[in-house]
Amino acid sequence: MTSSDELRKRREKEAVRIRTSLNRLRGEQRASIKGGESTVAFVEERLCIGCDQCTIVCDDDAIEMYKVPMASPLIQVESNQKAKILRADCTGCRLCVLACPTDAITMIDR
Ligand code: SF4
Ligand code: SF4
Repeated sequence: MTSSDELRKRREKEAVRIRTSLNRLRGEQRASIKGGESTVAFVEERLCIGCDQCTIVCDDDAIEMYKVPMASPLIQVESNQKAKILRADCTGCRLCVLACPTDAITMIDR
């Protein structure tokens, strides 16, 4: 029978394997997204759920949130928020693209 100590070691080993694999995937994904000074981030408003993740990762304060009315009249909330890129401040670093859970941000030519 597997002891709890063996189980713990196996879980730790598996966690390292998963972390390594995810980091490699993120690296590959990041390499496939064009970036740099000639590009600027763009938010597809329809896909943005206002989660604020992009503003947290943006070191250049190039993203601000703005209020919009809720799309569905069935939900009794007066306002919702969306992200907007401040083009002049965006350095094209691509961090927001990687952070966005809904793939609402893409990099476009300046
Ligand atoms: S690409 Fe970088 S600088 Fe531009 S909005 Fe996204 S996180 Fe900010
Ligand atoms: S991370 Fe994506 S979904 Fe969340 S606020 Fe930014 S653009 Fe919108």
